[in-house]
Amino acid sequence: MKLWKSPFFDNALNQFLSTAEVMNLDPNIVERLRQPARALVVSVPVRMDDGGVRSYCGFRVQHSDTLGPCKGGIRYHPDVTLGDAAALAMLMTWKCALMGLPLGGAKGGLQVDPTMLSRAELQRATRRFTIELINMIGPDRDIPAPDLGVNEQVMAWIMDTYSKQVGATRPGVVTGKPITVGGSLYRHEATGRGVVFAVQKAAAVTGMSLGEGTTFALQGFGNVGAIAAKAMAELGCRCIAVTTSRGGVLDRNGFKLESLYACYKEHGCLTPEVTGGDSITNKDLLALDCDVLILAAQANQITGENASQVQCRILAEGANGPVTREADPVLVDKGIFVIPDILANAGGVTVSYFEWVQDLQHFFWDMDEIELRLKKMLSRTFDETLALARKYAVSLRTAALMKGIGRVAQAMLLRGLYP
Ligand code: NAD
Repeated sequence: MKLWKSPFFDNALNQFLSTAEVMNLDPNIVERLRQPARALVVSVPVRMDDGGVRSYCGFRVQHSDTLGPCKGGIRYHPDVTLGDAAALAMLMTWKCALMGLPLGGAKGGLQVDPTMLSRAELQRATRRFTIELINMIGPDRDIPAPDLGVNEQVMAWIMDTYSKQVGATRPGVVTGKPITVGGSLYRHEATGRGVVFAVQKAAAVTGMSLGEGTTFALQGFGNVGAIAAKAMAELGCRCIAVTTSRGGVLDRNGFKLESLYACYKEHGCLTPEVTGGDSITNKDLLALDCDVLILAAQANQITGENASQVQCRILAEGANGPVTREADPVLVDKGIFVIPDILANAGGVTVSYFEWVQDLQHFFWDMDEIELRLKKMLSRTFDETLALARKYAVSLRTAALMKGIGRVAQAMLLRGLYP
């Protein structure tokens, strides 16, 4: 078990074990699900532009393939660890099962800072990493997707490398690709818009009206955060603060999102000199008095130490694991409606699933069809999870986990243990 050791994995494991206890889950199932099914650790040597060679450590972790081929992102970050990938793979298993997708959970990482590589170096690193994982991935085995530090160009290179190896174009090997090479419409928007759709459902439950008087704050302004901000603004809500890894900005009167997008695009950060308003730190953003707080950056942001300072009414976890286990009960006690990650950000994997299905059928859907199908699935899952939470008097997070874990456990019992 030490192999997976990381604060993030400990959090994911403890979350699983405490939910298993509430569910009175078969101990043999607990024993099988408490750690990943398999992992591959590889060294990825890359010829740099100066002629030298540098090796990066990479891995792929598959937590469970009980419900279908594994699914999960690949993260390029110098600090990503095997334990982080194991934690995220476990979360993916529960998320896919919660959404009723015929997929298991996986996650991968390459310990590299992609911003320090040239385009050619990034391409060589990606192609070599793909070859190292070639026996593990595939449209019917394990389908990677982009995660932090990885964009759709990287996914296109993985698809191309895999396809060259098997001798035929196989777009279904990864999701999050550019549209021209088998990507899906709406994939780019899916996670952020799904987060806001969940906020709308939560607002309906709590009796909050989302409109002009509603304020929201956002941690993270990347793919998930920027799209979520747009969707919130479309509902008429007022964006009063946004932070990124390099600080952020605050204006109680509300920002015009265009100025934030322009500033972030040009400078890679948000500064009051350009956007107006005042500076705000991440720490202060989490404690801001606002109606909706959307976390769309990193794990472990709200902990036992700062949970008591959180003042929002609805907290949506766009990121994976942004609230620690110690913080959870504090937020519940404060009456904050927390939409857990595996529910709030499930729009992403759901449209990834749509992309995979479209690739396998070589038949592509239009935007309306995708949005309609996504909303239907998110709405049904939200309602069922809420009903479960009320039935067992547990938090929405516990209910979501119970539902996801329950489905995997049921399938395991039906399939049995081989040999
Ligand atoms: P991204 O790289 O596009 O954006 C991340 C943003 O977070 C950037 O604005 C960055 O500056 C900011 N950030 C990083 N560290 C921060 C910190 N300590 N404090 C404040 N801001 C910080 O990534 P993304 O695709 O938007 O993903 C964000 C989160 O959502 C991740 O946890 C990811 O795993 C999760 N997620 C993403 C998707 C998806 O479809 N992209 C799906 C499900 C979950």
